Order: sequence, then C-alpha cells, then structure tokens
Amino acid sequence: MRIILLGAPGSGKGTVAEGLRSAYGFPKISTGDLLREAVREKTPLGLVAASQMGKGGLVDDATVLALLRERLARPDCREGYVLDGYPRNLSQADSLDALGLAGPEIVFDLQVSDEVVLERLANRRTCPNCEAIYHLVNKPPKKAGVCDVCGAALVQRNDDTPEVIRERLKTYHAKTEPLVARYAAKGDLHRIDGGRAAGDVIRDVRRILETALKGPARAGE
Ligand code: ADP
Ligand code: ZN
Repeated sequence: MRIILLGAPGSGKGTVAEGLRSAYGFPKISTGDLLREAVREKTPLGLVAASQMGKGGLVDDATVLALLRERLARPDCREGYVLDGYPRNLSQADSLDALGLAGPEIVFDLQVSDEVVLERLANRRTCPNCEAIYHLVNKPPKKAGVCDVCGAALVQRNDDTPEVIRERLKTYHAKTEPLVARYAAKGDLHRIDGGRAAGDVIRDVRRILETALKGPARAGE
C-alpha cells in the first residue's frame, strides 16, 4: 500500500502522515525530512541539495530520487508507506510509477488557500532533531520553544520566511499542482479540505482509507 499526499507547503501533509503512522504504523517518508537530514550530515547529496532548498525551488530529481530509493529499500517500508512531499513534478511521478508497487496506491490532495499557507508557515516551528511540527497558536509545544517529543530547542525553518514561502507557493502551483489532474485521471485521487483542524482532516483521510482497504476484500468474499 502506497499513500501519496499531495498539497501545497503548509497544507498539512506532514501532520496527516504522522497521524497515519500512529494509527496504522505506516512509516512517514518525507523527502523534505530526508533532504534536511542529508544537509545536516553534509553528505555529498546533502551538499548539492542545500544550495537548492534555501531558495524555494525544487532540488533536482536525481538527488531526491536517490535519497528516496535508499529510504524505501529499508525493511519498514515493505508493507507500505506514506509519501509526504514526493512526487512534486510530473517526472517524479513517472519515476515513482517505475519503482513499482505490489499493493494499491491511494492519493490524497490536501486543498488549502494560499492565505492559509502563509498564516500557517509564519506560525510554524519545527524540531531540528526529530522533525516534529508545531504551530504557535493551534499546536503550541507544552513548554515554549522546546520539543514535546525529544526536548530539543525548536526552530523556525530557514525557508519559512515570507519571500521563500512565496517562491515555494509559486513552485507548487507551477510544478506540483498539475499532478492532481494526473492522479484524478488515474482514478485514485481523493480531494480533502485541508483548511480545517488537523484532527478533522486526519479523520476524513482515515475514513476514506479504511473504505478503500475494505472494498476489494469485500468484493472477493
Ligand atoms: P514544504 O512541503 O513545506 O515545502 P518540505 O519539507 O516538504 O516542505 O520541503 C522543503 C524543501 O525541500 C522544498 O522547498 C524543496 O526545495 C525540497 N524538496 C522536498 N521534497 C522534494 C522533492 N520531491 N523534489 C524536489 N525538491 C524537494
Ligand atoms: Zn523533537
């Protein structure tokens, strides 16, 4: 089972992926997290990625695919996984199809307005250690500035500044949004209003997933 989360930056992909991980155990595969980790560790791929990420554009397809392949080869991905932030353009969608998959694939598009994105990202704080996500108003950490999960000091991501956010939105509308039509044409796309509280969004996604998972089994009974 492969679950793909599409949506603008700040649409809640990471939060939904985390909800699905805790509900079903599917690992959350975030290419943004993989890239930031490679940047932190100054691996050869990380050094390439660092210069491309700060500006709000996409990291080149080959670099991201290399990181993704490595991650998907780990045993925890065998039963299925949730993709957060991949694919982000048509060529990445082709690469993903080429990777193949035993089980079903289901795609969610988390729809939010640009205004919501700007508000959410301005208030977003993240943990540089475990990548937990906070919102200063809607989901503040228990202790100001400190990660609930691991105790590290929270940071504002350096691409969560107004100028870079605007660039990321442009990149999203130009390169990633066209994927919605592609997956809609394939027939496995579910549109979700991502502008609501996280709990409501995750509940809707889970309901759709559980129906989809039950469907084929029922038909075969
Ligand atoms: P967001 O979805 O909030 O923009 P991410 O953490 O998913 O944040 O991504 C941060 C940055 O990492 C992106 O702006 C982009 O530069 C890079 N990135 C992440 N995933 C990909 C991808 N699949 N292809 C190319 N670049 C990516
Ligand atoms: Zn943490």
